[in-house]
Amino acid sequence: MPLYHFLVRAIMSTSQFISESRGQYKTKAYAAADAKSQLNPTTIPRRDPGQNDVQIEILFCGICHSDLHQVRNEWSAMPTVYPCVPGHEIVGRVIKVGSAVTKFKPGDLAAVGCMVDSDGNCSQCHVGLEQFCPNMTLTYNSPDKHIGGVTYGGYSDNIVVKEHFVLHVPTNLNLAGVAPLLCAGITTYSPIRHWGVTKGKKVGVIGLGGLGHMAVKFAHALGAYIVVFTTSPNKKEDAHRLGADDVIVTQDTDQMSKHTGSFDFILDTVSAEHDINIYLQLLRPDGNLTIVGAPDKPHAISAMSLLFNRRSLSGSLIGGIAETQEMLDFCSKHNITADVEVIPIQKVNEAYERLLRADVKYRFSIDMTSFKSR
Ligand code: NAP
Ligand code: ZN
Repeated sequence: MPLYHFLVRAIMSTSQFISESRGQYKTKAYAAADAKSQLNPTTIPRRDPGQNDVQIEILFCGICHSDLHQVRNEWSAMPTVYPCVPGHEIVGRVIKVGSAVTKFKPGDLAAVGCMVDSDGNCSQCHVGLEQFCPNMTLTYNSPDKHIGGVTYGGYSDNIVVKEHFVLHVPTNLNLAGVAPLLCAGITTYSPIRHWGVTKGKKVGVIGLGGLGHMAVKFAHALGAYIVVFTTSPNKKEDAHRLGADDVIVTQDTDQMSKHTGSFDFILDTVSAEHDINIYLQLLRPDGNLTIVGAPDKPHAISAMSLLFNRRSLSGSLIGGIAETQEMLDFCSKHNITADVEVIPIQKVNEAYERLLRADVKYRFSIDMTSFKSR
């Protein structure tokens, strides 16, 4: 009997897999063919929606610096599989739902971030930390268990995603500015909440890019005193407008040293190699510096920077699904969106070059109706 049960279960799970993997359709996308090539128009396969799936027409997709790292194969720990269709800041409208879907119906607004699946059974999934599930599937560049190959992201005109990984979009916010919340938003909101940023705390934000400007908005909404560290003197005025109480251009070492030993929390959002010891010195006793920026080159940390004042250094990766919904609802309540420059998909390569020069205020959001004008 146990063998019979085993066989029945094996056949059932195989047939389920086959029925899930059977139907596919083609959709438009922009893909990179290798680490050196530009993104070009192409068509990609998507699975037909299964019973737990939501099919979404993509309206906007933000451009995250991670897209650029991945497209150019800059992360040795996460090699890129080509063709690569990036994009994990997705907002759109539901066009079809599977028979078991209960939270969405055609016509609803919907959003998708950096993950599209996880095992749902592990200790991390059980506490809403799907991003740490050992079997988590990223929105792009993860093995696609439905149709083979790798998953393809949001630089595309539609996508099919398991319901659990689809978020509700507040209806009072500008959609182009909501898209970046799905990565830049949750990646900064999560550590800011985790490390207890609130009124009366002194918070530093290093780098005023896509992530950094969201961190300033969240910390400001929570009532913290905020200091922005930037390499770009021309961002000073914006930093104040976004909610910073003080702005330090990091080349000014005198200004930096005035803050020694005074910060409760510092968030490092920098995408390129830089020295973090100078920021560790600025933490007060038991202060924390969290890294979210992901340059490939390892950081050199002086032990002394941590020993004195019992400082701590940590990292943070996006956020779980429930927390992402909480962040979207927080944004709805506080009227927070990303500051975006909306571009057509045809300008994506130009946008990447500008991102490298820190020349974006403060996130590119691709308007997917531009696919129709191709
Ligand atoms: P971004 O918009 O390009 O912003 C990065 C900012 O870093 C720049 O605007 C610039 O700010 C500063 N910067 C750039 N080069 C620098 C250098 N050489 N030295 C010092 N500062 C420099 O990028 P993003 O989309 O916010 O992403 C930032 C990083 O976070 C990327 O590495 C990305 O992969 C990573 N990320 C991590 C997660 C996660 O889950 N942990 C999620 C998303 C993204 P100033 O002009 O103000 O100096
Ligand atoms: Zn991202």
